Order: sequence, then structure tokens, then C-alpha cells
Amino acid sequence: MTAPMVRAAGLRKTYEPKRGNSFTAVAGIDFELYRGECFGFLGPNGAGKSTTMRMISCVSTPTGGRLEVLGLDPVTQGQQIRSRIGVVPQDDALDLELSVAENILLYGRYFGLPKATIRERTTQLLQFAQLTEKASARVDALSGGMRRRLTIARSLVNSPELVLLDEPTTGLDPQARHVLWERLFRLKQDGVTLILTTHYMDEAEQLCDRLVVMDKGLIVACGTPLELIQSHAAREVLELRFGFDDMPAAAKVLADDPALGRLPGHRVETLPDRILVYADQGEDALREVHRLGLTPITALIRRSSLEDVFLALTGRTLVD
Ligand code: ADP
Repeated sequence: MTAPMVRAAGLRKTYEPKRGNSFTAVAGIDFELYRGECFGFLGPNGAGKSTTMRMISCVSTPTGGRLEVLGLDPVTQGQQIRSRIGVVPQDDALDLELSVAENILLYGRYFGLPKATIRERTTQLLQFAQLTEKASARVDALSGGMRRRLTIARSLVNSPELVLLDEPTTGLDPQARHVLWERLFRLKQDGVTLILTTHYMDEAEQLCDRLVVMDKGLIVACGTPLELIQSHAAREVLELRFGFDDMPAAAKVLADDPALGRLPGHRVETLPDRILVYADQGEDALREVHRLGLTPITALIRRSSLEDVFLALTGRTLVD
């Protein structure tokens, strides 16, 4: 087996403010990721995903455990690591005064690449980011989706083996997100190893070969999206919405019903706005709901998702 691209064992980060209490953002995590994978960190805001990314990209020093990136030590060999990785931060941090092409060119100079190489790479990367026509436009004239694509293109100027993307589509509209997913998929096909953080379960399902689910600084599950869904949720979910006043009584009837309890994969979760009935066959659960004489306003059967995995593991939803 080949050596991992990134290996973490008992990795921790505790912030020690000058005044006040210390805060442990990453509380001892273990993971390994391999060449060619798209590896995800899925979790709600505050789970410790960005802190982990910042440690991998050598801008934040671990306070405990072990971390190896490309077989190197981020604390003592940060410069070597940085020359071989690409980083796409949450905040685009582009130079608004410069043109689209100049943003890439300048970044290439920062890596000390020869001028001819940078020019050639810039042309290729503008094409990759579908921004060739915008090469001389100023960055402040770009849409949010275009800026993200430019930030990704810029991070690729040094032909990195590993690219880290922190919340790559947060704040983008659905169409812009799909364009970005397609570009990231292309990168993956080109053999680039990707690490991304996200609080969107659909993004994790679409892009990640393997992922860890993080909550409160810890990893609560690890696997492929399918493995996680199969081991933590029934195949289907029946989503029921009732009138506000009818919710508590309906939740009780559903939770206590023995026939529902016998359905394979059965579980009932009551959320503030809806009740989720997990069962391998959602239709069977719906039939039982009708037999009980309950009259939901809406009843929707869908496949289980990573959102359901998170709910099963933590009792909370990913996006509050
Ligand atoms: P995520 O990316 O999953 O949203 P973060 O890694 O950004 O989570 O943050 C995890 C926790 O660490 C949060 O509660 C955040 O407030 C805290 N945190 C992040 N950076 C710092 C810092 N520089 N000093 C103190 N606390 C921090």
C-alpha cells in the first residue's frame, strides 16, 4: 500500500487566548488519506474543520498529537509542504485591484516559478476556470462563482499534488455550485488529491470518495458516503409535516406504535418543524401512518442522506 498523503494521529489544537479560558477546537483526531482521493470533513459550523485544514496547510501549529503531510512535518518543513500543495481559503482573498490574469501571474511569482512557465500555466488555468474571456477584467467585476473559480485556478499555479478547499461553495447560488462541483470533479479525474470541508451534505455526497463526520472537535464517523448511510440510517425516510398544534400528539403516537416499531430500520426523530420516520420501505411506514388515522399536511418519502447520518450520530441537524 502506498504511504498516506496526510496522516493524523491524536491531532489536537487548543487555542490559548491571552486572557480568558483556553478552547480546544480539535480534540484528538485520527485519519489518513491517500493519493487520488477526494477526502471530506463534514460537520456543522464550529466542528473544527477549518482548524484542521489550517494545520494541514501549515498556517496553524498543532498543540498535540502527530501530523504528517506528504511524509513531511508541517512544523519544521512547512515551506517544502507549501510548495507542493494548493490552498483555497474560505475567504477568496483575491487582489481586487488587479485583473483576473494578474491574480494568477502574481501568485505564480510568489512560488518563484519561471516567467514563461507562469504565463503558460495562467493560460491553461483561465481555460480550466472558464475565465479566458474575463482575463483582463478586474476581479471586483466578477460574480461570486467566478471569484471562487479564480481562487481555485490560482491555487493550482504550482501544479500541486494536494489541494485543500475550505467550504468551496458556501455563499454561492445553486447553479454556481454545480459549475464548481463539475470543475472539482475534473481536477479529481486529472489525479489531483482533494481535501474539502463542507457543511453541505449534498456536496459531500457528490464529491467525496471518503469522508469523516466531525462534531465538537472530534471525528464521529468515517467511511464512503454509502457506507456511512448504510451503517447509520435506514434506506428511506418518511418526512411528515403536521399543523403546529398537532405535532406533539402525532409524535407520541408514532413513537409508541408497535407496528412501526417492527419495520426494518425503524426509528422516529422529531424535529421542530417535521417528524422523520426511518424505515427501509418508506411506503410501509406511510401505510401505517394512515392506518393510525394521522393526517399529515405533507408526507414525503426520500432516500436517506448524510444529513440523516449526522442526525443519528449527534441528535442534531447539520445546518441549524
Ligand atoms: P468549522 O470550520 O468546523 O466551522 P473552526 O475550526 O473554524 O470550525 O472552529 C472551531 C472552533 O474553534 C469554533 O468554536 C471557533 O470559535 C474556535 N476558534 C477558531 N479559531 C480560533 C482562534 N483563533 N482562537 C480561538 N478560538 C478559535
